[in-house]
Amino acid sequence: MALIRERDGRRLHVKSKLMGESLVGKTFLDSLQVAPQERLFPDVNIVKIGGQSICDRGAKALPAIVKEIVANSKKHKILLTTGGGTRSRHIYSIGLELGMPTGIIAKFGSSVSEQNALLVATLLTPWGGIKIGHDEIIKLSTYFSQGCIPVMHGMPPYDYFALPAPKWRIPIHRTDVGTLIIADLIGARSCIFVKDEKGLYADDPKKNNKASFIAKISVKELLAKHLDDLIIERPCLEILQNSEVLDRIQIINGLEKGNLTKALAGKPVGTIIYK
Ligand code: ADP
Ligand code: MG
Repeated sequence: MALIRERDGRRLHVKSKLMGESLVGKTFLDSLQVAPQERLFPDVNIVKIGGQSICDRGAKALPAIVKEIVANSKKHKILLTTGGGTRSRHIYSIGLELGMPTGIIAKFGSSVSEQNALLVATLLTPWGGIKIGHDEIIKLSTYFSQGCIPVMHGMPPYDYFALPAPKWRIPIHRTDVGTLIIADLIGARSCIFVKDEKGLYADDPKKNNKASFIAKISVKELLAKHLDDLIIERPCLEILQNSEVLDRIQIINGLEKGNLTKALAGKPVGTIIYK
């Protein structure tokens, strides 16, 4: 990049395409040519272990999933993330009752999902389980070369800066969103959400047992349905839609043995939401 001197000779500027731009101008942004996004770790699979749906079930769900993760870790590089679950909801409701702002509620959420990361990493320690922080993401190759199974909490680190949403103060970017953003960041091979239902239905199957199952749907179609409730956090849809490196996410039932193995093998189990 060339250096240029102001006419009065007092200041130097670094010449770049962005020089002098507000970075907000629509016409400018539309015309800007940039290199396609690099996929930093295209062979890594991101697998989110649900908080409420899996971790909270403790011994009824986790040992079987841990076993399946370990069996697959020989063949696949897996980065695990964790949700918060019922304990998050508990502290959220107390915080909301007491008028806490979004940023405080988000901080609560981070610490609970971190507890679950510690839980899952601890269960995995005999097989190389290691709890990592968000900053360690760039060291993934080192972990995999040493046979580790990294586990990271899924809450995005917006914390006090969590975006206040209209109408309520529960942060809209929680552990599904954090997981998907990380998948986009590293250009992951796959992004799999392990939950407690077969996948996405037209309505919450726990409240409506007649809801129809959706095996595969595009983000666009799903957005157009304006479903009242979803199996993943709503902003995930837009994040997937905008991703340059991901073309799908998959949601599977982790209470059924073999589903994770199938998903990691690229098989169409559960629901696939594609771009
Ligand atoms: P996690 O534990 O990963 O945070 P959640 O409990 O937040 O998962 O979300 C999974 C739950 O979402 C399911 O157990 C299901 O009851 C509920 N749900 C709501 N709407 C839907 C839907 N349209 N299809 C499937 N599940 C849904
Ligand atoms: Mg959730």
